[in-house]
Amino acid sequence: MFSTLFQATGFKRALDLFEAGRFDEGKALLKSLQDEFLAVCDENEALKKQLAEVAEVLDLAEKIQFDGQKYWLDEDGERKGPFCQVCYDRDGLLVHLHRRENHWECQSCHGLYILPRESEKGPQKKPRLRTTLDKTVPLFLEQEMS
Ligand SMILES: [Zn+2]
Repeated sequence: MFSTLFQATGFKRALDLFEAGRFDEGKALLKSLQDEFLAVCDENEALKKQLAEVAEVLDLAEKIQFDGQKYWLDEDGERKGPFCQVCYDRDGLLVHLHRRENHWECQSCHGLYILPRESEKGPQKKPRLRTTLDKTVPLFLEQEMS
């Protein structure tokens, strides 16, 4: 904001100096305007890069899915993963989990994710609750009024 203003007024000032025959001052002013311009270009590049990074993060957030334990990435119908929930939530990094015999392991934070048991995949049989109470217990005991 300030830079643009500085340039707009600076160019007019340089022109005035040249018209007045003060060439050295005019040249010095043009030099500082050029430096200013280059700094603005650098800043602009940095902002563009930041914007691209933010867009990438938003894009990723749309593709990522949480299964209640781990993250999966859905890219063009292809499911990739799983990825560590802790690392993604904390650092925004997708860290592949390595499959072990009974769990997934994160190589980065060493978090463990237990694999679903085989029995949980098929149709489940509800474990039968054993009734421990043989007799019904009255909820309210009648009290004799005194
Ligand atoms: Zn992790």
